[in-house]
Amino acid sequence: MWQKGWRDQIWSQLDQPWDLIVVGGGITGAGILREATRAGLKTLLVEARDFASGTSSRSSKLVHGGFRYLRNAQIRLTYESVRERERLLKQGRGLVSPLGFLLANFRGDRIPAWVFGAGLVIYDLLAYKWGHQHYDANGIRNLCSPLTSPDLLGGYRYIDAQTDDARLVLRVIREAVRDGGTALNYARVEGLLRLRSGRVTGVSICDQAPVTHGRTVEVEAPVVINATGAWADELRTQINGIPRLRKLRGGHLIFPWERLPLPRAVSILHPVDGRPVFAFPWEAVTLVGTTDVDHNVAPIDEPAISEGEANYLMQAVDKAFPEAGLQLEDIQVTFAGVRPVVDTGIADPSKESREYVVWHEDGLLTVTGGKLTTFRLMAHDALRSMRRWLPGRPAFDRKLQVLDKPPAESSLYADLDPAARLWLIGRHGADAPAVLAAANPEELQPIGESPALMAELRWAARAEGVVHLEDLLLRRVRLGLLIPDGGLTMLEEIRAVVQPELKWDDARWIHEVEHYTQLWQSCYQLPGQHNRSHELEHTP
Ligand SMILES: Cc1cc2nc3c(=O)[nH]c(=O)nc-3n(C[C@H](O)[C@H](O)[C@H](O)COP(=O)(O)OP(=O)(O)OC[C@H]3O[C@@H](n4cnc5c(N)ncnc54)[C@H](O)[C@@H]3O)c2cc1C
Repeated sequence: MWQKGWRDQIWSQLDQPWDLIVVGGGITGAGILREATRAGLKTLLVEARDFASGTSSRSSKLVHGGFRYLRNAQIRLTYESVRERERLLKQGRGLVSPLGFLLANFRGDRIPAWVFGAGLVIYDLLAYKWGHQHYDANGIRNLCSPLTSPDLLGGYRYIDAQTDDARLVLRVIREAVRDGGTALNYARVEGLLRLRSGRVTGVSICDQAPVTHGRTVEVEAPVVINATGAWADELRTQINGIPRLRKLRGGHLIFPWERLPLPRAVSILHPVDGRPVFAFPWEAVTLVGTTDVDHNVAPIDEPAISEGEANYLMQAVDKAFPEAGLQLEDIQVTFAGVRPVVDTGIADPSKESREYVVWHEDGLLTVTGGKLTTFRLMAHDALRSMRRWLPGRPAFDRKLQVLDKPPAESSLYADLDPAARLWLIGRHGADAPAVLAAANPEELQPIGESPALMAELRWAARAEGVVHLEDLLLRRVRLGLLIPDGGLTMLEEIRAVVQPELKWDDARWIHEVEHYTQLWQSCYQLPGQHNRSHELEHTP
């Protein structure tokens, strides 16, 4: 799948009738492609940039019920989310893993501890899973020694889950493609095709990939779904839709795990505004998030954290982990994502509902908002609402597996570390044996401190639809987030493995490195931190 020449092959077949066109290759579009393909619909997904390059690679990476949504009385959202969390934990082993959480309570917090206790009772009841427990300050410190604040009063332990969001998107898309679906990245929908009556009948697509950039094609289908997330108003306004979305940015900080060695996630209330902020271990780093601020700067393609947001998160870190002595200089990477919520005009962004919406306007179905966790439900709601326009009025069975059953871990090399086997099964599903078969023996080692294997870079470059170096380093194998300098200091080593697979000449490699360096320095570091970063040396 997606080996040499795949984009041209797909492009040459676009000009044929489809049952359904999905615009947007984040988790929402991926889920719709998966469920539609499963139901036998001839479905095309097109993504303007890389798969998961929007919000779906920039989330907080939690597969969760959204405990904090209970505060806003969003019971339905919480119920659906915990059910989906349980389903994903069962079916996505190695990709979706349980994550122990501590809700730490401090002197001066605006919300008393018993409120959390009551919330967790509801949370566990909704999941049919009794997992929370209260601890005093010493008990909490025993569970998480970096929580050294003298103001710690105690707290609750409970269980949620975490994932690699970009890999989740890719696994869902690839399983849909294996099942007969079609997906193309770097293919932007620039316009909607419409009948005189105004009804949408298709899209016009413009190729965004290097070399073939600019070619266009018109593609028709009885149903077009707008799954463009925070960009959804851009397509909607083409059919005179009034903009309805508010874009909220959430920023994150990543520290080397050794600087904040958390054994489990910690959630605290921010000392200034009382918003929940969390810190947790993720793939050998420690992630801290998130903020919730209006994102009014264009374009939204590459959002970045602001200095103010970084300082805000550092205040929370100082409150919970004062003895860690963390400074801005300790931050390894930052990243930010933009969340679309329906604009109700509320002043406080955190009070806007996080529930997803499905709008039907002149044959264009927009589905946006919501969460990574609930992507399967969003897909079902979207498809069911368009059923009467879909050929054969297919049934959409909610009981089917969300992720395909992967091969058994025992089918992978026996001498591979069990954790690495589980990692490969989770991230690559049915492709896991092929990832190993393509690898040279020395590529079965983790890259630096990260759990990712060099073998995954080779495989991604060969068969995972990589168009730019940033696709490889930020989303297929997440070195941009996981290792110091975003992998810039390792580029020659990486080049030896991936350049022959990508079939790029030296000029293209240098160009890609320049672009990646610029992107990583401007959007994945603290503002003004560029001069601290590694100076590149190009070896043509
Ligand atoms: C800071 C933050 C933290 C979050 N944390 C969590 C969490 O921990 N757990 C959780 O469950 N949820 C979380 N969420 C929510 C979750 O990340 C989003 O709901 C989800 O990723 C949205 O997916 P999407 O596919 O709708 O949008 P996106 O992932 O943004 O995908 C939309 C895609 O459409 C493409 N596109 C745009 N215009 C066009 C066009 N004209 N033609 C073709 N393609 C186009 C874009 O390039 C983009 O890739 C978080 C959100 C944010 C912002």
